[in-house]
Amino acid sequence: MASIDSESLEELGKLRMLAEKMTDTRRTKIVATIGPASLDPKVMRDMVEAGMDVARINLSHGTLDQHLETLKKLRDVSDLIGKPLGVMADLPGPKVRLGQFAEPLDIALGEEILLQPGVKGETSKKGLFSVGYETLLTDIQVDDRLAVGDGSIILQVIDHTGDALKVKVLFGGTVQGRPGLHIPSDRLSLTTPTPQDLKYLDAMVEADIDIVALSFVRSAHDVRRVGLEPAPRGPLVVAKIETKAAIENLDAITAESGAIMVARGDLGTECSLADLPHLQKEIIARCVALGRPVITATQMLESMINAPAPTRAEASDVANAVFDGTSAIMLSAETAIGHDPAHVVRTMAEIASKADQKFNYAGWAKNLKRDQLGEPQRADTAVTDVMTMATWQAAREIGANAICCISASGFTVRAIARFRPDAPILAFSPQARSVRQLTMSWGAIPVQIDRIESTDATIEKVLLLAKEQGHVRTGDIVAVLGGSSATIGVTDTLRMVRCP
Ligand code: ATP
Ligand code: MG
Ligand code: MG
Repeated sequence: MASIDSESLEELGKLRMLAEKMTDTRRTKIVATIGPASLDPKVMRDMVEAGMDVARINLSHGTLDQHLETLKKLRDVSDLIGKPLGVMADLPGPKVRLGQFAEPLDIALGEEILLQPGVKGETSKKGLFSVGYETLLTDIQVDDRLAVGDGSIILQVIDHTGDALKVKVLFGGTVQGRPGLHIPSDRLSLTTPTPQDLKYLDAMVEADIDIVALSFVRSAHDVRRVGLEPAPRGPLVVAKIETKAAIENLDAITAESGAIMVARGDLGTECSLADLPHLQKEIIARCVALGRPVITATQMLESMINAPAPTRAEASDVANAVFDGTSAIMLSAETAIGHDPAHVVRTMAEIASKADQKFNYAGWAKNLKRDQLGEPQRADTAVTDVMTMATWQAAREIGANAICCISASGFTVRAIARFRPDAPILAFSPQARSVRQLTMSWGAIPVQIDRIESTDATIEKVLLLAKEQGHVRTGDIVAVLGGSSATIGVTDTLRMVRCP
């Protein structure tokens, strides 16, 4: 066999990467949680290569210093690979947690346990759990039901003993670490963001975080209270929908937020599990119509924390979330404490890619147009609304090979994603933070450019870049959507060009 020199090997590597890009058809983004199992930069790198688009840091666990270090490692990995990676900091909100369990503990059906209000650092043990919630004894009443973790363990309050609540186990299971204790949100006297959240938020904004998630949002007012500059100057704010009140105020919350998360863990304990799949569909449809990315989260590939393959139900769940129109799907414990984080990401990417190929693109846009008819025109976004619709339609009719979107803030990219065009969306922005925020946007391939110049010069530049990066070839028809340099910030120009 003829030997191959290192230069040809490098060429071969480049060709292979190009071929992978041409065949990777995944449009749905993957958010993966970083935890003890994924703190090693080598694992982070494998996760990015397997398809992680956004890394999530859950500020509920660990210390602020650890999280800042994790953020720095993620930035280094992204620089090293040369692929933009969004980073999301998930603020704990008023989440009540049990004191640390020294080791995993089995809780049996019928067992009686005392719950005592305790301060951070106190531990829990068999028969006596410490609860990090000062007003536990006044807010909770006999007959209330409390759920532990993501809701698999259910406790019923049977007595007030003066300094503790006595509960009986209705559904048992195993607890470990510092599991959450779900208090029905109408009983909870705390609101989001908490003073602790605001402290974390300051540190994360200082560290240039891309996306922040707010837990236990109940109204649009909760979102306004974070008081951030609008993206991309500030981070993109994700409101987690996990309370009954948030379902009732969904449209107002969505309008106020940069993105939405269907946080199925706590949402599933707030409402009936029979309602959950329908809530998921409804929330996704509303968000996409408003041009907001929406993440479907919790237990998507849960069994892969230990197992090498997902259950059939989990594989279907991931694919069905894609069919519901979700922009992104999320991994939590699977990648935070699971045995093989990169393998889980790869598995999720494979299922999502296949589902993306089978997605009903034409049907989606038809429904969207129908559902939006009769809605009042939003004056501030009217130009973007019609321009993105025109682009989607023109690209479809001519069979464009790609849609190039030149957008400083990323707003236009999110607006065109509403239609779920089947042509790839190449998103060009001169702002590094917009580029990283677009990693969470359905179908967007974010690319950084140095600046937006005159329309002609910018179009020429983005076509060249798109070709260099292997997204389009000579002769391809490309729809380019952008603004003229005189009207930066307004998307008012559509060109159909043949790639030189
Ligand atoms: P949330 O309600 O915000 O989703 P959670 O407790 O469900 O909080 P997840 O981020 O969903 O947490 O992660 C699932 C599990 O993974 C957690 O219960 C915890 O055991 C573990 N985990 C996640 N991040 C970390 C971390 N940084 N350090 C330790 N364990 C973590
Ligand atoms: Mg939660
Ligand atoms: Mg969770």
